[in-house]
Amino acid sequence: MRAAFFRGDGVIELCDVPRPAPQPGELLIQVAANGVCGSDRKILRGGFGHIPGHEVAGTVVEATEGCETPVGARVAVYIPRHCGECVYCQAGRGNLCPHKKGLLGWATDGGYAEYMIIPDRNALRLDDRLSFEQGVLLLDTIGTSSHGLRLADCESAQSALVIGAGPVGMGAIAYLSAMGVPEVYVSELSSYRLGIAESYEAIPINAGSEDVAARIRAAQPYGVDLVVEAVGSLPTIWQSFDLVKPGGAISLVGEYWGQVELERPKSEWMINDIHLIRSFYFTIPEFHENQQLILDGTLRVEPLASHRFPLAELRAAYDAFLSGDTVKVMVSPLS
Ligand SMILES: [Zn+2]
Ligand SMILES: [Zn+2]
Repeated sequence: MRAAFFRGDGVIELCDVPRPAPQPGELLIQVAANGVCGSDRKILRGGFGHIPGHEVAGTVVEATEGCETPVGARVAVYIPRHCGECVYCQAGRGNLCPHKKGLLGWATDGGYAEYMIIPDRNALRLDDRLSFEQGVLLLDTIGTSSHGLRLADCESAQSALVIGAGPVGMGAIAYLSAMGVPEVYVSELSSYRLGIAESYEAIPINAGSEDVAARIRAAQPYGVDLVVEAVGSLPTIWQSFDLVKPGGAISLVGEYWGQVELERPKSEWMINDIHLIRSFYFTIPEFHENQQLILDGTLRVEPLASHRFPLAELRAAYDAFLSGDTVKVMVSPLS
C-alpha cells in the first residue's frame, strides 16, 4: 500500500509498504480522509518513526475475532488507546483513561496511508448520511473544541472570545454558533479565516492590525463570559485572563507544552472567580451527540473543510496549511 513518511526538515516521502494485518480485536480500515493538523508541525520538522496522521475516517475492510464493528462499516477513528475497562472507559471517557497506551497515529501507524489498523473499541460509527470528511471534522475540529466548551458550560454564555481561528478555534466558533451564544468575537491574524468566522456571524478582530483588548473592552467593559484559547502560547493564555469577565470561564484548547506562569502584573486572575478549563480531546458519547447536531441541522460544518488534496500531494497539503489561509485541509488516499 502507499504510505507517507515524515523524514524531517519538512521532507515527506511516499513509499510502498506491506498492507498491515490486524490482530484479534483489531480492524483494518481503508482510509478515505485524513485531516491535516497543526500538531503535526513538530514531527514534520523533526521526522517521525511511524506513518503519521491521526484525524482519520474510512471503511472497515477486515474485522477480526471479537470485533463488534462489521466489515463495511463507515467509521471515524477515536485515537486514545484506552483500556476499555476502567471507570473512565466504561463511561465513554477514553480520553481520560489512566491506562491508555498513547494515541493512534502517534504511538502507532496513522492515516496517511491506504490502510490503517485500529482497535475495535476505537471505531466511532459514522451515520450513513454524513461524509467521511464530516467524520474527520467530528474529531479534533469539533470534538476537541466542543468538549472544552461543554466543560465551560458555554450554553450559559452571552459573550465569548475565541483567540485563534485555526481548525480547533473555528470548530469552537461553529459550536458556539450552534449553541446560540449571541456575541462571539474572534481574534485572528488571517483575514481568510476571519472571513469564514464571519459566515458564523462571529465578530472579527484582526489581531495583526487591531488592539484586541481595546476592542473587547469597548463592547464588554467587564470582559467576556467565556474565552477560548486556541493558539497555545503564553501571551494568548495571559490575554485570556485579561479579557475574561469576573465569574467567567476560560477554556484552554490550544496545544501548549511549556510551563504556564499565571502571574499577571495586575494579579486580577487571583481574585475573580475564574473557571479555568484545560481539556483533552473528547468523549465517545460527545462524538455521537455532535453527529446528531449535524444531522438535525443545528451544527453547520461545511465551511470547516476548506481544502482537499490526494495523498500523493501531501507536501502541497502541508504548504497550504502552513500558509495560515485554510481551516481543515483534507487528504485522501482514494483520490
Ligand atoms: Zn489533530
Ligand atoms: Zn480505561
